Amino acid sequence: MNELVSQASERLRSQGGRMTSQRRLLLSILDSLGEHPTAEELLLIARKQDPDLNLSTVYRTLRWLEAENLVSTRLFAEGRRQERFDAALPSEHHHFICTRCKNVIEFDTDLLDEIKTQFQDSSGASVDTGSIELYGLCPDCRQRSIVQETGMEVG
Ligand SMILES: [Zn+2]
Ligand SMILES: [Zn+2]
Repeated sequence: MNELVSQASERLRSQGGRMTSQRRLLLSILDSLGEHPTAEELLLIARKQDPDLNLSTVYRTLRWLEAENLVSTRLFAEGRRQERFDAALPSEHHHFICTRCKNVIEFDTDLLDEIKTQFQDSSGASVDTGSIELYGLCPDCRQRSIVQETGMEVG
C-alpha cells in the first residue's frame, strides 16, 4: 500500500470513517503521480478506472485530505490561477514552474530558514511555514528557445 493511502486509512479509522474505493483510487493516483494536478486533471485520470466518479467527490476527498494535512494546495501564477494539489507532504519544499510548458520541479533549500529568521527578527512576527516559487524556463524549454533563436545546440 502506498504511503498516502495508508496514512489516510489510519486517519479515517480513528474518525470512524471508511475508505471507499473512490477515495482509495484518488489517493493512490495522487501518491503515484508525483505531480501537482488540479481537481479536474485528477478526475480525468481517475475516470479511466472509475467512470462514475464526479468532480464533487474529487473535491470532497481533496478538502478532507487538506484538512488532515495530507495534501496541500498550491496557487501557482499560471495563465489562469487554479488550485493544484500537492501530496508531497509533510516536508516543506519549494517549486520551480516553467512558464512555457508548466512543468513543475520541486526543490529543497536551507535558505528559507535564514529568510524566516531574518523576517522574524525584523518584524517581530512568528513564522510557521513558507514556500518559495520560482518561475522561468525549464532546461528543455530553455534549450529549445536557444535553438530557435540561434540555431545552435548548447550542452
Ligand atoms: Zn510540490
Ligand atoms: Zn518547460
